[in-house]
Amino acid sequence: MRTRAYVYRLYPTRKQEETLLWTLRRCKELYNASLEERTAAYKMARVSVSYGMQAEQLPQIKEERPEYQGIHSQVQQDVLRRLDKAMQAFFRRVDEGQPPGYPRYKSNTRYHSFTYPQSGYTIIGALAPHDKKGKKTCRLKLSKIGHLKMLMHRPIKGTIKGCTIKRDGDQWYAVFSVEQAIHSTPVHPSSKTVGIDMGITSYATLSTGEQIANPRIYRYTEQQIKEAHRRLARRKQGSHRRIRARRALTRLYRKVRHRRQDFLHKASRRLVNQYGTLVFEALQIPNMTARPKPKKEEAPATTEGVEGGTAAAVTRYLPNGAAAKSGLNKSILDAAWGRFITLCACKAEEAGGMVVKVAPQQTSQVCSGCGVLVPKDLSVRWHSCPTCGAELDRDENAAINILRRYELQGAIPARKKRQSTRKGGRGGKRPTATGAL
Ligand SMILES: [Zn+2]
Repeated sequence: MRTRAYVYRLYPTRKQEETLLWTLRRCKELYNASLEERTAAYKMARVSVSYGMQAEQLPQIKEERPEYQGIHSQVQQDVLRRLDKAMQAFFRRVDEGQPPGYPRYKSNTRYHSFTYPQSGYTIIGALAPHDKKGKKTCRLKLSKIGHLKMLMHRPIKGTIKGCTIKRDGDQWYAVFSVEQAIHSTPVHPSSKTVGIDMGITSYATLSTGEQIANPRIYRYTEQQIKEAHRRLARRKQGSHRRIRARRALTRLYRKVRHRRQDFLHKASRRLVNQYGTLVFEALQIPNMTARPKPKKEEAPATTEGVEGGTAAAVTRYLPNGAAAKSGLNKSILDAAWGRFITLCACKAEEAGGMVVKVAPQQTSQVCSGCGVLVPKDLSVRWHSCPTCGAELDRDENAAINILRRYELQGAIPARKKRQSTRKGGRGGKRPTATGAL
């Protein structure tokens, strides 16, 4: 079994959109109220309220607030389940000693979707012939909301397990989570293996020397986005013009997102079709995008003649490359390498191929010709080896090293599932959570 998501655009009428927005707001209220209940119960009586306890109250809420009869009951249960997940994640972070981040109260701008986890939705006429424009439109019947027009641009393969209605600015989408049974493992037609080095100058370089150019999607629209931000900031709070400016900005970001998505899907598809095994470096993107450490000057020149440390030690800071790195960071986040590798892995799994990772150490420094270490800065784009005379592109050299490392040492094991670090003997008490409340 594997789970996939199918996303289709919805075209609600104006009235339906009002109902959708109304539902979103009620779900948000329910979320906030339940969060408040949990917080208050814990603060006042040190009692943890569970999902089950809150779900039991739903019928009562319906009695006191009749408008909640206008929302499918499972949708409401799902709201509580979301909160439960957020709380669990919070406690897990506390236990692991990470910054805890208590669940937020959501505003309308932070609450975008609601879910029918089991029933309450039906697709009507999915196999209907194309309409006048050659599009496959059908209806999505949602309990308590109505029949929404939906564009089913491709058929669903598998069993639908749930449906989420999602708002994205002024657009609406239906996301179906679908379980697909794996009947047989397909065999990939190609037995070729390729090493892939992800980069900035070129998005990816293969060990064959082929390059995938960087789309630089965000960079391209960056000016437009900056301008739209400025326009928004100039508009008066609560004005119609401000709402319009916000909408324009949302659209720009969506455009960037969709373009990036499109690029990632197409590029990963090409690679997966061509090669049976794709070898990547195990990247550590959170490390790469962290702010560089301040660099202190070692052994200040003024230490001579200082007696008993009376003179105030002046620490001087050297340039640490923060400015250069911030530009690089933007490119890295824009490049979405992690997402690219995930997409490759998903597509490879379906095609009978494989994605493996090797240790990333010094793949760009070692010579692919003779194995000697040739240290070079990030700015040096060309690898020339003084020992064996190899001359090739820096990234191609790295890609060959990645491929070779896999052939010689094999892949590093896939990341282990998160293990609870909770020590035994603490029972159900969560004393460490108190400080965060
Ligand atoms: Zn060499």
